[in-house]
Amino acid sequence: MRTKKFYITTPLYCVSGKPHLGHAYTTLAADILARHLRTRDIPVHLQTGTAEHCPDIEEIAKGRNMAPGDWCGAVSADFRALWKTLNIEYDQFIRTSDPACTDGVQAAFEKLLKSGDIRKGPAPGRYCPACETFYDEAELKGKNCPVHGRPAEQVGGEAYFFRLSGHEGALLRHYAKHPDFLSPPGRAQELVNSVKAGLKDISVARPGTAWGVPVRSDPGHTVHAWFSALLNYAAGPGYNPDRGSQDFQSLWPADVHLAGRGSFRLHGVIWPALLLSLGLELPRKVYAHGWWTINGGKMSRSKGNFIQAEDVVRDYGVDALRYFLFREVPFGEDGEFSAEALRRRYNADLAGELGRLCSRVMTLAGKYLEHRLPRKPEGSEIFKELSAWTQEIHRSTEALRFSDALESIWRAAGRLNRLIDEKKPWEMEKKEPAALRPFLNEMVWCLRLVAGWLDPYMPDTASKMHLQLGVGMTPGGVEPQNLPALFPRKHDGKPGDPLHN
Ligand SMILES: [Zn+2]
Repeated sequence: MRTKKFYITTPLYCVSGKPHLGHAYTTLAADILARHLRTRDIPVHLQTGTAEHCPDIEEIAKGRNMAPGDWCGAVSADFRALWKTLNIEYDQFIRTSDPACTDGVQAAFEKLLKSGDIRKGPAPGRYCPACETFYDEAELKGKNCPVHGRPAEQVGGEAYFFRLSGHEGALLRHYAKHPDFLSPPGRAQELVNSVKAGLKDISVARPGTAWGVPVRSDPGHTVHAWFSALLNYAAGPGYNPDRGSQDFQSLWPADVHLAGRGSFRLHGVIWPALLLSLGLELPRKVYAHGWWTINGGKMSRSKGNFIQAEDVVRDYGVDALRYFLFREVPFGEDGEFSAEALRRRYNADLAGELGRLCSRVMTLAGKYLEHRLPRKPEGSEIFKELSAWTQEIHRSTEALRFSDALESIWRAAGRLNRLIDEKKPWEMEKKEPAALRPFLNEMVWCLRLVAGWLDPYMPDTASKMHLQLGVGMTPGGVEPQNLPALFPRKHDGKPGDPLHN
């Protein structure tokens, strides 16, 4: 029997701006997987949270006349509010500025100093504060950061470095032994090649910024934000080499580490090297999903190129958003977000296929079954056939192939709609009355199956369907509720509509 919980973690989101759809995407994926596992009675721990020592926080807070801590508190609360709006059920929300977290990071840093995997040395080359990285002359573009294009600073003095070099062999052996560790495989090869080409030591702390986690034995130096964020995947649930933690032991290693593809190297190379140095087990899987683009560009607040999840929820509802994000594009790939695509999916798949199926079955059940809930149909071909799809839908969800699972569910809805078209139950009353009730029994039970499959993806819709279909109530005894249409059809957006782009 499994005693360890299935530990899922999202990235820890930087609080330099309010959350947008890109942040919601990763966290929704974690929620779908967690909900699915819970329905299978597998104990889950879903950790999410905010990284609060990002390099630009001090400046942003100052510009708003706020203390950095107050700014972080406000934005972190925005993240939690959005998770609530999106129906995301997490078990733990950590804030990296929490003293328990910073304490764990400091203790881990000291442990690595003692083992020699972190060392102090002269600061080489030029430094980009946004990257928290030193670049040598060959890597710079002129005197500018190759990533940000802004001037890299000559800092001088000393900094702390993590011995990333020398980990190549262990990492490559781990990748080879655990082919699912870096996922999806299409993105993994590039990382593996970069490790084969050799790794360079990286700076992990540098002299004095006021807002950050100080190195305990050398408080004039501050740990880089990304370094502290990585350690918080373990420190959040209680890792602290100074003392034991039962919580941590019951959770670690993470089963699924979700990240955007922009931080795959951080999560797939640097983080495992750090864990090896700390003597901790590596996560079972690091999964880098794709990006949502708008007009071809990556969704990003700093570029002003983003969608507010709240706007979509207001216009279409939470479940339509959850559906669209995971149906439109396979989770590992990039996808273009557009108001037209959303409206098309909504009208065709939600209002057209699923909504129509529900309303037809409920209307027919109301009319011909007198709202009485039928018993499970023995010997029903269609019910038997669809029941056999459950395993494949579960497998797709567990492999984070969310679009495959949804595609199967909609294929089933299509089958059922076509079956109703063929059988014409509204004519059966006169032509073959004896077959009418058994047919509607089948339809009700098939729709219950569909509602069960939808539950992790569209929890509100699934509960409304369950309510209408009387799931959990005594067969034959209870009148199901008649509720309004699940997905009223949407018409073209008006100019000025925030989603009309
Ligand atoms: Zn940079």
